Amino acid sequence: MGKRYVYFFGEGKADGSAAMKNLLGGKGANLAEMTNLGIPVPPGFTISTEVCTYFYHNKGIYPPGLEQEVEQALRRLENIMGRGFGDKEKPLLVSVRSGAAISMPGMMDTVLNLGLNDETVQGLARETNDSRFAYDCYRRFLSMYGDVVLGLKAESVDGIDPFEEIIDELKKARGVQYDNQLSAQDLMELCERYKALVRQRTGKDFPQDPKEQLWGAIGAVFGSWDNPRAIAYRQIHEIPDDMGTAVNVQSMVFGNMGDDCATGVAFTRNPATGENVLYGEYLVNAQGEDVVAGIRTPQPINIRQKTDPQMVSLEEAMPEAYAELDRIRRILDRHYRDMQDIEFTIQRRKLWMLQTRTGKRTGFAAFKIAVDMVREGILTPKEALLRVEPNQLNQLLRPVFDAEAKQKAVASKAFLAKGLNAGPGAASGRVVFNAVDAEHWADRGEKVILVRLETSPDDIRGMHAAQGILTSRGGMTSHAALVARQMGKVCVVGCGDLEIDYKLRQMTVNGRVIEEGDWISVDGSTGEVFAGQIPTRPSEIIQVLLEKTLKPEESSIFQDYTELMRWADAYRRLGVRTNADQPDQAQTALLFGAEGIGLCRTEHMFFEGERIHAVREMILADSTEGREKALAKLLPMQREDFKGIFRVMKGLPVTIRTLDPPLHEFLPTEEADIQKVAEQLGVGAEQVRAKIQALHEANPMLGHRGCRLGIVYPEITAMQARAILEAACEVKKEGIDVHPEIMIPLVGDVAELAHQKRVVDDVARQVMDHYGIQVDYAVGTMIEVPRGAITAGEIAKEAMFFSFGTNDLTQTVFGISRDDAAKFLHDYLEKKIWEFDPFERIDQEGVGELMKMGVERGRATRPDLKVGICGEHGGEPSSVEFCHQIGLNYVSCSPFRVPIARLAAAHAAIREQ
Ligand code: ADP
Ligand code: MG
Ligand code: MG
Repeated sequence: MGKRYVYFFGEGKADGSAAMKNLLGGKGANLAEMTNLGIPVPPGFTISTEVCTYFYHNKGIYPPGLEQEVEQALRRLENIMGRGFGDKEKPLLVSVRSGAAISMPGMMDTVLNLGLNDETVQGLARETNDSRFAYDCYRRFLSMYGDVVLGLKAESVDGIDPFEEIIDELKKARGVQYDNQLSAQDLMELCERYKALVRQRTGKDFPQDPKEQLWGAIGAVFGSWDNPRAIAYRQIHEIPDDMGTAVNVQSMVFGNMGDDCATGVAFTRNPATGENVLYGEYLVNAQGEDVVAGIRTPQPINIRQKTDPQMVSLEEAMPEAYAELDRIRRILDRHYRDMQDIEFTIQRRKLWMLQTRTGKRTGFAAFKIAVDMVREGILTPKEALLRVEPNQLNQLLRPVFDAEAKQKAVASKAFLAKGLNAGPGAASGRVVFNAVDAEHWADRGEKVILVRLETSPDDIRGMHAAQGILTSRGGMTSHAALVARQMGKVCVVGCGDLEIDYKLRQMTVNGRVIEEGDWISVDGSTGEVFAGQIPTRPSEIIQVLLEKTLKPEESSIFQDYTELMRWADAYRRLGVRTNADQPDQAQTALLFGAEGIGLCRTEHMFFEGERIHAVREMILADSTEGREKALAKLLPMQREDFKGIFRVMKGLPVTIRTLDPPLHEFLPTEEADIQKVAEQLGVGAEQVRAKIQALHEANPMLGHRGCRLGIVYPEITAMQARAILEAACEVKKEGIDVHPEIMIPLVGDVAELAHQKRVVDDVARQVMDHYGIQVDYAVGTMIEVPRGAITAGEIAKEAMFFSFGTNDLTQTVFGISRDDAAKFLHDYLEKKIWEFDPFERIDQEGVGELMKMGVERGRATRPDLKVGICGEHGGEPSSVEFCHQIGLNYVSCSPFRVPIARLAAAHAAIREQ
């Protein structure tokens, strides 16, 4: 006995199983599995992928023995069906279906009703007493075979299907809309015209011999493995060429035999919401792909799916078949332990299953199905966790457009443009073009969308006031995108089709003018922008956690979310903190499960209200005394900020970074503003201009910033340390525990840290003596320049903790500026120089290696060194996993990413097991 190439399935028994996907392809393996489960599947056989590989390596020759095996299988099929292949009275008809282990566009389409010819079609008509049906099958077969095996569609210019043209012509002539309105006579004529077309195009008659038809179809499937589209697809998706496709030959069942027949597609659960109900569509008296081809409007499977009383659900039309389908969907769902995408046909009220595979779903559905399946005893919590991609949780947290309303908007041509989906969720509002307007309009109770070329730190409050943010420039890590994520704002960035005119207060989008005050709707989950107002639904989790407008017991989504997060917390070892500058952000993060603050940026506090005056006064001062005087005004304000944060955090660690940005960022740039600032500070405009000049840097990212500020102006660090420690003492007096961690930025040399640490320790001693209170504070550093990571062993002598600032570390390791990278990033990604944006995901080979070095060298000096990450990467799942692998203690991310990081950390821990 040689090798086996053909695997039979039928009569409740199959040679293959679901485990044999590589050999039988996904479709064949699952047809075998369903057969073994006792599910009604039309019998047939699968020619294995090994034949494809052989065919591919031997210039289109089949392995010896294949022909006999196929003959045997065909005979077995004839016996089961009681029909003969090519038999003039009771012809056996089959479908020929391709199916690789990984489904692949470009592979040959299915051919149905193979085995028909001018004689067998008459037999079928006599047998069924229905020539309409018989010729409907024949015309379908002729066109499918003509298309996919003889290649008539492929060879036509502009990809027009010549068979489609002929049937359209005929329908027009008969004055009918749908295929199924054509008479038996019409269909006979159609078959003649089809055959004539084949003769004309190929110079040969349509093959009448069923065997020739069969081998023609089998050869076409194997040949299609080698077509340019399939090859390109494999290259892109790194699918090995020698994987091969299988061919399934299966006896036909007919959904087009009359009004007690149907064909359909369904999911074992709702793929959009995850609800545990059969969900799908069907068509009466139809065959094959009619349902998805949009030939007639398909009908819903369930009564409850009906959106219009005119619809007739399968549940109503064929209750027995529906009940059977519902029974089978439960079996499959449970057996495969996942939601299935199924294809079926009903012939004379009897249900037949034709395909099952794992179904695609929204993040929302993925989450609900995973949790439900644990409750139903199908999955373990560990398995359920892995079924939800961390980023999919976004969909649970953000408001969403009502799906139907959005479809209507598209239908009414309200679609404007598409940008990058930077802040998921849905928002509608009136367009404003600057941050001040956004604030003013919002104060008046208006909902606004802030539209900018790009945003800057000056826009923060306007961004906060807006429902959503839309920019024409910038990428996923632009200022707008970053702030939007931190705030949990809906945001679309880099929407290049917008031509924004600040002066005219309008934008033009593909010729359409949108004025200030016009309504637009922004879908931050997809990047789409629409004109007008589309209704939204708020996320229930937000309603329960933040708005408190919904009780936990009223929301099953919230309960499911809590459950999933509980499992995640049980598995993860990595801590999850948040980046928050204000008490309300900290509060939000806590509600999302943050275990501390990993980065509190003090400079954002400097922009608030009156403070900016004192900051500018400090910058303009020429002496230490002058600076100290101005700083003294800031002290009580910063102290109050920290008190607010400490109170909210109730004893959880709070990492506060001392001043980081270059000072010029606090000075105005526009002449009018310079005048105003000079006036407010009681100095000449000259003086302000001179200072701006003096602070000008060719490359501010690498300039006078980070600890370099505190070293030149120790009084700034001293004031900040004082504010932190006084706040700590006062809050401790209130009976609330406090653990401040003071973090010095941009350290590359241990001496820098030692200097700043001395300043902090001196102030701390004074403050604690003054209050008579001991505060458990720590001084540590950010590791965000390569030298910091390389000399981590030295730095750890002074640092009690490290936090990787991977935004700056990425900039300095690559030698690129994030703000300028937009100019080439697109090309780099397009040309595959880089596989991903290193500001979005940690570059493990470069930046990651330095991180590893930093951890190892730091801990060699100080074994209990606490190490975290506070760059934007801290909320990105693959980066979180990497942080777990290199042994960090925690990640810190924006509040709305906290649940995502918790789940990603659980995934990392589970995958390691
Ligand atoms: P695809 O890989 O594109 O899903 P399939 O091989 O599943 O293609 O075939 C498409 C459709 O053709 C099926 O969903 C089913 O409706 C119909 N079909 C395939 N084989 C048969 C068969 N033996 N009997 C009846 N219909 C079939
Ligand atoms: Mg299919
Ligand atoms: Mg930094």
